[in-house]
Amino acid sequence: MTDVRVRFAPSPTGALHIGGVRTALWDWLFARHSGGKFILRIEDTDKTREVEGGVQTILDSLRAYGLDYDEGPDVGGPYGPYIQSERLAFYQKYAERLVASGHAYYAYDTPDELQRFREQQQMRGLPTGYSRRHRDLSDADRERYDRERREFRVIRLAVPRDEQTTFHDVVYGEITYENKVLDDQVLLKSDGFPTYQLANVVDDHLMQISHVLRGEDWIPSTPLHILLYRALGWEPPAFVHLPNMLGSDGKKLSKRFMAVGAMEYLRDGYLREALINFLALQGWSAKEERDVYSVEELIEKFSPEGILNKSPIFDPDKLLWYNGQYIRALSLSDLAARTLPFLQRANLVGQDPDTSTLSYIGHVLKLEQERMKTLADAPALADFFLLGDDEYPFDEKAVQKWFTQPAVADRLRRVRAGFAELDVFDETNTEAVVRAAAEAEVKASEVIHPVRVAVSGRTTGPGLFETLATLGRERCLRRLDRALGMMAIPLASE
Ligand code: GLU
Repeated sequence: MTDVRVRFAPSPTGALHIGGVRTALWDWLFARHSGGKFILRIEDTDKTREVEGGVQTILDSLRAYGLDYDEGPDVGGPYGPYIQSERLAFYQKYAERLVASGHAYYAYDTPDELQRFREQQQMRGLPTGYSRRHRDLSDADRERYDRERREFRVIRLAVPRDEQTTFHDVVYGEITYENKVLDDQVLLKSDGFPTYQLANVVDDHLMQISHVLRGEDWIPSTPLHILLYRALGWEPPAFVHLPNMLGSDGKKLSKRFMAVGAMEYLRDGYLREALINFLALQGWSAKEERDVYSVEELIEKFSPEGILNKSPIFDPDKLLWYNGQYIRALSLSDLAARTLPFLQRANLVGQDPDTSTLSYIGHVLKLEQERMKTLADAPALADFFLLGDDEYPFDEKAVQKWFTQPAVADRLRRVRAGFAELDVFDETNTEAVVRAAAEAEVKASEVIHPVRVAVSGRTTGPGLFETLATLGRERCLRRLDRALGMMAIPLASE
């Protein structure tokens, strides 16, 4: 096989979408698998659609997902520049070459003329593509238009009309288009900017791209690309069109169905590793009964031949499942480091936590790790651990149930006294104290429940004794005092 050189070629028209991450990921896996190169090229020739900060978002997103590229705008490389708006001279040169060889021509239509033609065709129910009326202008007319320096001078591809164009796609097999359905597309606009069609072909050739991986929406453009490769005397790359991921409604991913930006998933508490595992398998299979793959395993196994020609359905529950798996596999220090920003955003931890706070967070997360589906679950699960001893909220129903019985107050007082005397405040010893407080009159659960409500404000959570040991003696004593204080206040109805 020739050296693998694959490129991801996004346009900076908005946030990088999760479908774009899958394309970039497959490019990257293929390059890493084959010892080839992964190239990032920014396709910014349509300045009207560009959004401010669009390029930076793309760079940031790829970095956040760990998809490092070997050549690209900010890392350079032998085939730069890697931003199309900085490569205009190349496109102009090849557009002129196409005109000189008769594969393209100047057209001078004004936007109004084009619009009028389109409307007439629509009324007659005919195709609305370009009329081709300037394709066969006489030399005299052309010279006159040029002399008049007509403002709307573009270069259009002269599609050979009565032929067919066939190409092979790695995923979809042989695809044939009747050329009569192909438009004489604009290649170079009047402002000197190329269109996607020209710039894409010129760059894929100049950058020596071996395989083009891109969404299936680009299949209809591919016959035009083939015509351009032929007209320029160039060998086309291998085409690998990728089936779109679909939402559970069977339609292309939309805002409603998880098509949120790549960065949003990370901000919502999904782990990069889980997303990578999930996305790699969205329409690609190593032909094994298996779900979990490390990045190294994906690199080892990935090849474009394993891409299925059937759209995968994006299953958010499956993604959550992956995320839970990867969260459970994290070491505690890694889990704590990754969860910290979520706890900070929820104002549960300050900006510069000291090492004892960090180690406390590690102990707390150890108890919640099993339950976390995303990192963003941590604040709601663990807030009572981190809020001040007079701040954590109480479940009203639980307070009504337990804190209105004088006998409970006696039990809590016994527990408090026992805790104060313990030599070592750990799971085993706190358990012994709690059970001893119950022994005489009631079942252990009659003490366990109110103690849990007292120290956490709630009725559910991790095991009580682990919770007590993690909170530590000082917190527990203060919290029991707080609960006892609440019990001393007579109820309003009394
Ligand atoms: N700039 C195109 C896009 O934004 C790239 C298509 C291609 O990869 O050829 O999707």
